[in-house]
Amino acid sequence: MSGQNLKVYRGEILHSLNDPAQVGDQQSFEYFPDGLLVVKDGLVESAGPYQKLLPDLPEQVNIEHHQDSLIMPGFVDCHIHYPQTQIVGAYGEQLIEWLNNYTFPMESEFSSPDNSRAVADIFIDELLRNGTTAALVMATVHKQSAEAFFRAASNRRMRMICGKIMMDRNAPDYLTDTAESGYEDSAELIGRWHGKDRLSYAITPRFAPTSSEDQLKKAGQLLREHPGVYMHTHLAENLEEIKWVKELFPRASGYLDVYDHYGLLGKRSIFAHCIHLNDHEFELLHKTGSGIAFCPTSNLFLGSGLFPLSKTENKKVNTGLATDIGGGTSFSLLQTINEAYKIQQLQKHRLSPFKSLYLATLGGARTLGIDKTIGNFEPGKEADFIVLDYRATPLLDLRLQRCTTIADKFFALTILGDDRAVKATYILGKEAYRKG
Ligand SMILES: [Zn+2]
Repeated sequence: MSGQNLKVYRGEILHSLNDPAQVGDQQSFEYFPDGLLVVKDGLVESAGPYQKLLPDLPEQVNIEHHQDSLIMPGFVDCHIHYPQTQIVGAYGEQLIEWLNNYTFPMESEFSSPDNSRAVADIFIDELLRNGTTAALVMATVHKQSAEAFFRAASNRRMRMICGKIMMDRNAPDYLTDTAESGYEDSAELIGRWHGKDRLSYAITPRFAPTSSEDQLKKAGQLLREHPGVYMHTHLAENLEEIKWVKELFPRASGYLDVYDHYGLLGKRSIFAHCIHLNDHEFELLHKTGSGIAFCPTSNLFLGSGLFPLSKTENKKVNTGLATDIGGGTSFSLLQTINEAYKIQQLQKHRLSPFKSLYLATLGGARTLGIDKTIGNFEPGKEADFIVLDYRATPLLDLRLQRCTTIADKFFALTILGDDRAVKATYILGKEAYRKG
């Protein structure tokens, strides 16, 4: 092995290999108590035990040693709104009121390219501080908001999927497009950004109530005209919302059927929330290869309901975790796991630490169809990874002294940890953030 462009990291290493629901907890991960992660030209060369990999390394190679830390793949956030960064934790509302009272006024400010650029940079800094290295992101209805985000993500060389929102009704005039302009602006952004660097485009009708039938038709047309682009929207988050969809689309058999009717389901289609779906709808998601973004902190904060994770396992629907900032309350996937665990507890379903690890890394990547590229430390994958600090807080330090297995340790990290536990974040093997 030549030493050129080689970077080597030593420490405890944990990564997910598969969904524990399919292979069982013990077969679902790899853990090296004293491990090496070898990165070449930004890609994973190998990950394994220190003693085994060391002899193959060039003699002069520098090894970055992280003690009292866990090296793991970067987090994948399957649904997040960058323009809502400044309204995280807005008091007192459920979905529809929250949109009208906080979200829409905030999003109006993204008609300004300067504001979009400034917030996009703050948002990406916040992702990195929290150990998130890939995300599916909603911009606003303004073309320039998506433009600013893509530019910011490109500057940081991050793997990001984004799109401008399509919304031509049931929203304030200052925040709507038309079926035609939404189509044209989306097509223009696809031409400029889809497939550039590590970026992809998502056709993004906000949700069924804010798009006319014409606009949903146009969204389906865009998907057919641009193979490889994503479809990103909300689905069955709140009971009032579902009632509203029934009134607006009386001929549809259900909420998911509205999207299905316009050809919006498929392998690269991701639906946020999916709390209140029936069995038939879960089966349709499975059949079409569509994915779900499970947004625990948002579901609790907006009082939307308890996501039935066991259904996604029984019906085999690809599912990842998401913060849903700003309905969600934390950028941290550790805190997102914390709330996911409690939501499952309330339904008598146990969320194991290894399932959490899967959902927040490889499972998210699988849901976004990029698990051949990121999500764990298989050779050849892009080296986006993080270092979590076992001593980040006095309480975490104290708690971890009682942990004897990696399951115990990782679980404690997810319950007690947050951005303070992220010591460093690496993008393509290069340090992009370091605490302090
Ligand atoms: Zn959302």
